[in-house]
Amino acid sequence: MDQANILIIGGGVIGCAIAGAVSASWQDVFLVEQFPKLGMATSTRNSGVNHSGIYYPKDSLKARLCVEGNRLTYEFCEKHNVPFRHCGKLVVAAAAHEEPELTALKKRGEDNGVKGLEIVEAAEIRKREPHIRGVAALHVPSTGIVSAEELVHAYARVATHQGANLVTRAKVVSLEPSGSTIRVGLRIGDQEEEDAQQEKIEARCVINAAGLYADEVAAMLGNHSWKIYPVRGEYCEVRGPRSSLINNLVYPLPHSDGLSLGVHFTKTLWGTFLLGPTATYVEGKDNYEKNRLPIRAFTESAKMLLPEVEESDLQLGYTGLRPKLVPPSHKGGIVDFVITRDPHVPQAIHLVGMESPGLTAAPAIGNYVADLVKEVLA
Ligand SMILES: Cc1cc2nc3c(=O)[nH]c(=O)nc-3n(C[C@H](O)[C@H](O)[C@H](O)COP(=O)(O)OP(=O)(O)OC[C@H]3O[C@@H](n4cnc5c(N)ncnc54)[C@H](O)[C@@H]3O)c2cc1C
Repeated sequence: MDQANILIIGGGVIGCAIAGAVSASWQDVFLVEQFPKLGMATSTRNSGVNHSGIYYPKDSLKARLCVEGNRLTYEFCEKHNVPFRHCGKLVVAAAAHEEPELTALKKRGEDNGVKGLEIVEAAEIRKREPHIRGVAALHVPSTGIVSAEELVHAYARVATHQGANLVTRAKVVSLEPSGSTIRVGLRIGDQEEEDAQQEKIEARCVINAAGLYADEVAAMLGNHSWKIYPVRGEYCEVRGPRSSLINNLVYPLPHSDGLSLGVHFTKTLWGTFLLGPTATYVEGKDNYEKNRLPIRAFTESAKMLLPEVEESDLQLGYTGLRPKLVPPSHKGGIVDFVITRDPHVPQAIHLVGMESPGLTAAPAIGNYVADLVKEVLA
């Protein structure tokens, strides 16, 4: 049986960033990903925004790891030639009664250590985004846009250069604590193939970074503390000359239900702009396309801030699934990331509910998990 110091389950942006962080200090690091390529799940089905950290409650993991991750992501992108644009964003109040919410958001951001926040008037909105209609906005200079796909691959490259083994088409099917180690059962090869190989690796530390499936992976160790509810975010895209209606990033005020940051406008690195993501609870962790919202549903909300946009400008884009810990029956609130050692199997570390701002926070999460690994392998 192969032996590993550390085995990471899940080759999304978080698993890959953790692989980069832990392989700087330890040898015999494995990362296993069930799909044929890294980052095929949530990590490349998002807005690609390097968030600032303004939205989350003070001292929460989301606030701390997002603010730190924002800085680390820019540094990493510079160093490893990952395309990005450090463009800032506007959170726009469409009407005067929303202005107090901008002030509250600014205060929350400042409490979290976000620098340079400024409330600007309608004239400044027009200067930055001539087609956006609003009475005031919060300008957030540290926000930007990154290539999520290239970021995943760059974290993976760093880990590989440091000696980590990243294996795709390898699905974890069982976890069995055995003394101070965990025996990890793997199914290698295409999942449908009947003759898919079974293998076992014995690991001193297992890190569960399985995204939408982190609850099911934890359950393999008998830990049923969490249930993940997929909440689909859908996008529309505007291509061609009409994409000049948006220059950078424009957000409405966030939904009070905490489900999403609201349908926003993101100028992509490839010159189009995205409208989305929406937020709908769905059945099934691979339910990306069933019962898509009609384009009309996007135009109605988009026109609040961008009156010139027309239904004919939009085409349906991709979707992504948020791994929410809040069931549909609970009306909201922001739930923090869960990053914890298993209480009964302490050589396992679980990362659960790793929704937004997980892309941004990934490098800071990598460092945070590396500290937990230090305790496990002490
Ligand atoms: C619509 C949307 C928009 C978003 N926008 C942003 C944004 O702009 N900025 C931001 O910072 N964040 C954003 N996010 C959040 C961000 O995308 C996620 O936090 C991040 O991608 C989570 O990464 P992950 O590695 O945990 O998950 P994933 O990318 O889902 O990776 C988990 C991996 O584990 C693998 N896996 C699962 N089970 C097993 C198993 N048994 N064996 C082997 N492999 C397994 C899966 O195949 C998968 O590849 C957004 C999310 C959504 C859905």
